[in-house]
Amino acid sequence: MSEHRRSAELFARARKVIPGGVNSPVRSFAAVGGEPLFFARGAGSRIYDVDGNEYVDCVCSWGPLILGHAHPRVVERVQRAVRDGTSFGACVEAEVRLAELLAGAVPGIEMVRLVNSGTEAVMSAIRLARAYTQRQDIIKFEGCYHGHSDGLLARAGSGVATLGLPDSPGVPADYTAHTLLAPYNDLEAVRAIVERRGDAIAAIIVEPVAGNMGVVPPREGFLDGLRRVAADSGALLIFDEIITGFRVGWGGAQELYGVTPDLTALGKIIGGGFPVGAYGGRRDIMEMVAPAGPVYQAGTLSGNPVAMAAGLETLRALGEPGTYEALDNTAASLEAGLLQAASSAGADAAISLNRVGSMLTLFFSARSPADYASAKAADTERYGRFFRGMLERGVYLPPSQFEAIFVSTAHTAEDIGVIGQAAEAALRAA
Ligand SMILES: *Cc1c(COP(=O)(O)O)cnc(C)c1O
Repeated sequence: MSEHRRSAELFARARKVIPGGVNSPVRSFAAVGGEPLFFARGAGSRIYDVDGNEYVDCVCSWGPLILGHAHPRVVERVQRAVRDGTSFGACVEAEVRLAELLAGAVPGIEMVRLVNSGTEAVMSAIRLARAYTQRQDIIKFEGCYHGHSDGLLARAGSGVATLGLPDSPGVPADYTAHTLLAPYNDLEAVRAIVERRGDAIAAIIVEPVAGNMGVVPPREGFLDGLRRVAADSGALLIFDEIITGFRVGWGGAQELYGVTPDLTALGKIIGGGFPVGAYGGRRDIMEMVAPAGPVYQAGTLSGNPVAMAAGLETLRALGEPGTYEALDNTAASLEAGLLQAASSAGADAAISLNRVGSMLTLFFSARSPADYASAKAADTERYGRFFRGMLERGVYLPPSQFEAIFVSTAHTAEDIGVIGQAAEAALRAA
């Protein structure tokens, strides 16, 4: 048994002054049993808790750390930025460079506004879509998470699903009344909504690869279909690429699937481990954002030079030739290793694995989930036992069945071997 005494002490203190002891509910181990660990250090693919235990990290800060922890180039660049002053609340060159890079990389982005989190990015994109279309309703998909802003907390996946909470109290029903829900991958349901109230729909928002009910890929034709329905009804199509942007490829899911949305929300990877979000899209829409236009949105620390430095250096490293092929190879060998482990442990009949590039989920479910209902049917008790067995064997998985495993460029063949061996033993015991 590895020792978790310091973590336990810190958690006891944390619970007295922080609700639930955590600053984001997904960090709690409520869904898998036990108490959250406190981490002291990360290097490459490995993280070290405050009791000195080492883990292969499969969470990577929920996706941002696609280069692994404390990548030397990012650290060096951030140190230089800090020395030059951490914030001006005024314009700096790095924000122009990051905006240019995003507009150059992501097919649907001609102009972009930088913000401080994914939540802020989506919230602002929705406001803009409503202003542009002069309509109020939005269509969102069950199990997709778009941050914790009021109107979007309806069947919002992961954190909410994990804790079994209904839509959050404190959200006025008037807000969510404008949020219409459809099952993921169900184009017919979307068509039916649009038939009923098409002229009221400002936007259809979707995770082009769902990552917040566990990884659920779009069915053939789903994203294409949304593109057509949106265009025909005068609604904007918004891709929430906060996970998939620079994850499933340089141009995100919109490049991978060849479907260009009107607006795109980004976050996570583009901040290289610092708090950054962005929303961008067609020039005629983005020109409506203040001060170019009337749609207000602002941020004291937006475009912060330290965060820009981390994001830029991360994207530069990612942009080097062969990076995504290598990531995909590592993720494919992890997929093969996990499936082999399941088979050796005699657990393969009860397990399915969904993967798109370097994001994947091992579901304790015989059939591969295609929407929220089928994802939720997974055996979360067994996932909890598996999670604890992996932790005990030095592998840190997401503390919820409804989250993605993220592979970084720092993960090595040795790491994949460690995960595979741990998985075989943990699956036998689970
Ligand atoms: C993480 C995430 C968000 C919210 O981003 P924060 O930076 O946590 O506010 C929104 N949408 C998706 C798809 C996400 O995965």
